Amino acid sequence: MGRPADGDPVLRARLDALADDGLLRRLRTLEGPVGPRATVDGRELLLLCGNDYLGLAGHREVREGAAAAALAHGGGAGSSRLISGTLTIHEQLEHELAAFEGTDAALLFGAGYLANVGVVGALGERGGVVASDALNHASIIDGVRLSGAERLVYRHGDWEHLDHELAARRGPSRPPALVITDGVFSMDGDVAPLAELVEVCRRHGARLVVDEAHGTGCLGPGGRGAVAAAGLEGEVDAIVGTLGKALGASGAYVAAHRDVRDWLVNRARTVIFSTAPAPAAAGAALAALAVLRREPERVDRLRANAALIRDELRAAGVGLAVPGIRADRVDPAVPIVPVVVGAAEATMAASEQLLADGIYLQGIRPPTVAAGTCRLRLTVSSEHDPAQLRDAAHRIGRAIATVGGPTGEVVA
Ligand code: PMP
Repeated sequence: MGRPADGDPVLRARLDALADDGLLRRLRTLEGPVGPRATVDGRELLLLCGNDYLGLAGHREVREGAAAAALAHGGGAGSSRLISGTLTIHEQLEHELAAFEGTDAALLFGAGYLANVGVVGALGERGGVVASDALNHASIIDGVRLSGAERLVYRHGDWEHLDHELAARRGPSRPPALVITDGVFSMDGDVAPLAELVEVCRRHGARLVVDEAHGTGCLGPGGRGAVAAAGLEGEVDAIVGTLGKALGASGAYVAAHRDVRDWLVNRARTVIFSTAPAPAAAGAALAALAVLRREPERVDRLRANAALIRDELRAAGVGLAVPGIRADRVDPAVPIVPVVVGAAEATMAASEQLLADGIYLQGIRPPTVAAGTCRLRLTVSSEHDPAQLRDAAHRIGRAIATVGGPTGEVVA
């Protein structure tokens, strides 16, 4: 190879091959704060693919909370938590998060990705088993790979399969297995069979961790997540919640018993070997929690918008069936509505057409989803105007029809 400054011909050839297959990914820049609408290349668009479910990222109080925390505590924490990076604002936020979740304790992480990798590494023991749903988020998959534990991938949402596989691995000298699942699956929008998973885990003496990245702020009383919605508070060993989605900030947390928190402080490598979250992120999250507590109607509006966009898409002839996803596991309150198109090129063509039509709705391709199931993963916010969502559903219907995507198949 030539000089680094001349580029990398090997990588360039691979990038060209990705482009030929319709799989090249590019970054698109938003100008100004995130919200139900976003400005791209000077054009204001309806944003239908963000995770700012409650419109808190651009909320004045959340922005002010971030600014005040930076002024009071600094631009960065300056160290990992165990060296000198534990600040009063971290402890304050952990206290508020534990109160929000109704758990004994909480521990912050720099991101949901880091929380999952850290939790799986700390609770998934060498010589033990980590069981993971086949459609879990990539951060869980990576965490399982790093943990050194035996990897058991059970069929999506199939607790009977999990039960069977755990039974086959029982042994007197084995440490407790760890079962981990997304509460709401990020690309499919269905909900895990949490009550059944609790039962299975109890039967096998296994720990259960639920990733509430898309449940927190969206489902359950007060937005406390899929576990709370299922009436299972206090029944799971740990909840992983993100601060960068419905809470409009950045970072993540684990809510659990103090014993679990203390173990994570001692064993979660993504806490031990990483600088503590920035004060501004913690300040933003604290302000977001205060807004959510004061305005629980945001969660009701989100549910109403999620149900509305499903109804309007159906009315526009858009099929909402997702291969491999059971209709009875789709909660219409979930703000993630995947519209599966199939081929990558057709999906991206629909996305481009919508962009020209004033809607930012990113196409999702492999490796994020399986080949042949490329999709427009539509998300709504509590702050979307219902009239705009109605209009958007018609535009989406038109775009899907233009590229020849599936229409009329309805699951939820
Ligand atoms: N878990 C799930 C289910 C997610 O969808 C995501 C984000 N895409 C994460 C974890 C990672 O969270 P973060 O973006 O805070 O790293």
